[in-house]
Amino acid sequence: MLYQRRIAENQVVSAKLELQLRGSRYAGVGTHVMGMAAVAMATWFVVDTLTLLTAALGFLVLNLWWSRRINKTLETNRHFTQRPTVMNELLAFAAITGLFWTSAVVWLDAYLPDMTYYLVVMIIALLSVVNIAVSVAVRPVYLTYIVASLVAMALWLAWHADHRPYNPVATVTLSILSGFLIIASDWMSRSFSEMVETSLERAAMSKDLASLTESLKTRNLQLQDARQQLAQQATIDELTGLRNRRGVNMVINDEMARLKRSQSPMTVMAIDVDHFKSYNDTYGHPAGDVVLQRLANVMLELTERAGEFAARMGGEEFILFFPNVGDEDAANLAEELRSRIQGLEIIHETSQTAEHVTISIGVLCCVPDWDVEFDQLLKSADEALYTSKTTGRNRFTFIEAELESQD
Ligand code: GH3
Ligand code: MG
Ligand code: MG
Repeated sequence: MLYQRRIAENQVVSAKLELQLRGSRYAGVGTHVMGMAAVAMATWFVVDTLTLLTAALGFLVLNLWWSRRINKTLETNRHFTQRPTVMNELLAFAAITGLFWTSAVVWLDAYLPDMTYYLVVMIIALLSVVNIAVSVAVRPVYLTYIVASLVAMALWLAWHADHRPYNPVATVTLSILSGFLIIASDWMSRSFSEMVETSLERAAMSKDLASLTESLKTRNLQLQDARQQLAQQATIDELTGLRNRRGVNMVINDEMARLKRSQSPMTVMAIDVDHFKSYNDTYGHPAGDVVLQRLANVMLELTERAGEFAARMGGEEFILFFPNVGDEDAANLAEELRSRIQGLEIIHETSQTAEHVTISIGVLCCVPDWDVEFDQLLKSADEALYTSKTTGRNRFTFIEAELESQD
């Protein structure tokens, strides 16, 4: 077996005690009461009725009290923390009931004819056989009962072998029966233990399994979380914190669909830093990185409304996207961007355009048709950007597009 759960000894004993109590409270008590009824019927006309009734009633009350006591114990002390007390009570009750039957045999010896007497002995012997089923879970209890009833009866009959013709035979029979029941109770008690252990093992294992499943669930959630974080990171440009190309792809289709449905205008700006290669050559790549970050911050500030975004498409090329922005606002925004970047006054000595870092912008404005793809718009914005580059840089070129579908 790959996985096995060890069950603590006291847990097994507790479970067996509970089994024993559950068996005794109805079946055990019931057996004794039925036995009493049978003995009373067999002896009714022979012995003194009052004595018989007193004994029977006393025994009945004792059994009912015991049954109630067991019920209480089962209700209040499920884990049998006071195990020795329960155990002692079980042993005491077994001894009392066993001795009750032995004293019945002793008492009735003075009154009963032979056949009725041996019938009573048989009824009592039968009770021992039936009792094995309900009180063998805790074997010492059953052994106590056997010793107090069968063994004691056998001893008494042996001692008074000359009282009746079949006392020696009865002695031998009861002795053999006692021996057999003592051995059988050992087998039964062992298999009871195994059963209890197996079921406790199974319960413990399924509890382990449940907690394992729980921790797997937590792990899964953590994994899901990590995956989400990774996906998010994969959509964001590490250097500037803007969306990257993937990040644009994730949202642009929904945005475009919304604009197409409402037939609202939109603006795309393609941006490229002027003479950036020479900036890197002059001030070094790390300084170039800082410039890109500063430019990105300005672009972020300009795209704060819902649906707007700035993205770094690669190198020193960026785009800005403005839904619901028409041509006039677009031109204003482009000019604001250009002047704010220049206003950063990042010294660029080797620029052939200005003293500071500047950008060129291509602005495209349109109300998107159903068949128009974002890439087409981007291409047009790039063309406008190219115009800005070739006509002096540090400027924006504006085109208002009537776009044809690509197919
Ligand atoms: P133009 O005005 O025509 O755009 O000239 P340019 O020098 O900006 O154009 P070019 O495409 O020749 O050079 C782009 C430069 O951008 C080259 C590269 O070193 C730089 N670059 C691209 N990615 C990064 C980056 O992540 N960090 C830094 N520091 N530089 C980058
Ligand atoms: Mg470039
Ligand atoms: Mg450039």
